Amino acid sequence: MRSVAIVGGGPAGLMAAEAAAEGGAKVDVYDAMPSVGRKFLLAGKGGLNLTHGEPLERFLERYGPRRAELDPLLRAFGPDALRAWAQGLGFDTFAGSSGRVFPADMKAAPLLRAWLNRLRAAGVRFHVRHRWNGWGDAGALRFATPRGERTARANAAVLALGGGSWPQLGSDGAWTSLLEQRGVDVAPLRPSNCGFDIGWSPYFRGRFAGEPVKTVVASFADREGRKYRQSGEFIVTEHGIEGGLVYALSAPLRDHIAGAGPATLQLDLVPDRGADRLVRELAHPQGRRSMASHMQSRAGLKGVKVGLLREIVPAQDFADPARLVSAIKSLPLKLVAARPLAEAISSAGGVAFEALDEHLMIRSLPGVFCAGEMLDWEAPTGGYLLTACFATGRAAGAGAIAWLKNQN
Ligand SMILES: Cc1cc2nc3c(=O)[nH]c(=O)nc-3n(C[C@H](O)[C@H](O)[C@H](O)COP(=O)(O)OP(=O)(O)OC[C@H]3O[C@@H](n4cnc5c(N)ncnc54)[C@H](O)[C@@H]3O)c2cc1C
Repeated sequence: MRSVAIVGGGPAGLMAAEAAAEGGAKVDVYDAMPSVGRKFLLAGKGGLNLTHGEPLERFLERYGPRRAELDPLLRAFGPDALRAWAQGLGFDTFAGSSGRVFPADMKAAPLLRAWLNRLRAAGVRFHVRHRWNGWGDAGALRFATPRGERTARANAAVLALGGGSWPQLGSDGAWTSLLEQRGVDVAPLRPSNCGFDIGWSPYFRGRFAGEPVKTVVASFADREGRKYRQSGEFIVTEHGIEGGLVYALSAPLRDHIAGAGPATLQLDLVPDRGADRLVRELAHPQGRRSMASHMQSRAGLKGVKVGLLREIVPAQDFADPARLVSAIKSLPLKLVAARPLAEAISSAGGVAFEALDEHLMIRSLPGVFCAGEMLDWEAPTGGYLLTACFATGRAAGAGAIAWLKNQN
């Protein structure tokens, strides 16, 4: 019986293990941590967003420049297949009003437990506290374990080592140098779906850090003049901003900052009212009311939104309705840096698709496949991350089986 070693027990590695076991291989899963699937469990904390229910063409566009490479893999195991797979494990899914798809109970832990039971029943063996350290003599996999170094041989291997975000959960990106030493092309890991630094005043930070800014529209133009627009919410943090709206724009913002320095995000704080109407409203005499209650009653602005205006707009502009409205409709937020990779939801960068064949095997390392977030693609939040991890995991596991068959 041919053996497949899976290194990394996140969603991509576990899916590769399942595909390899279905293909008849003896499968061993190795993970550096005391248990597998830690980031998957964290993803379930706020509701496990497994995938998205939008039409497949729109879904595929979310992978931007890597759509072409992921397209066949996502067509082979995409959103519908993933929902059917979850159902096969005993977990119905539903699409929320935004189209995001969740298990009915929203949780990751029961699904992971059922999945691990099924994998064990299929003969998959798990070796935790096994940190992969590269290859030893004659291609054996080297692991650091609590009992010292151990080597393992397998006929094929799938690396599914994750990106570099939340390293405390196991994926620390240390594998990049191991592959680079073997001549594999790896794009540097960068934060994706990340927050940004702004450098608030001590007053603003102390007063508003942690506050959500609801229902705004943010716009941004990059160096090439490409325009981005996103409506939604974000959160003020100690350092700057984070949250759904910011994550959705994080790739072009990050790239702009890396290439050209600070990026300016224009915020429309009151997207449901036109500028003319706001000017008319705010031109009404203030009377004895404070500026704060004038802005609340005339423009519907209060709390953190007024705080943002006070933080950024010169005091004298508050007396000029036209200037004030121009700031309300287009408040410039200067983003100076992306937050570190360790804090991001996911990673950009990783093993270049050009280094892989269509089954995700590293061309220069026959029999070694890669899957999941360690590949060089990125996507927004919304279930796109997990779906591509599952799809690439499945492709790599099945690819290993197909390759082993060809070796005979
Ligand atoms: C807070 C948060 C919420 C998220 N929510 C969602 C969501 O709702 N929907 C969604 O689609 N995505 C979500 N994601 C992203 C998603 O969790 C990841 O994209 C996904 O887990 C990546 O899967 P993976 O298998 O490629 O890597 P990982 O899940 O990171 O697994 C990699 C595994 O490899 C192991 N490993 C790493 N290095 C070594 C080594 N040298 N030796 C041995 N083992 C090693 C790690 O311990 C880990 O178990 C979220 C991420 C975060 C941080």
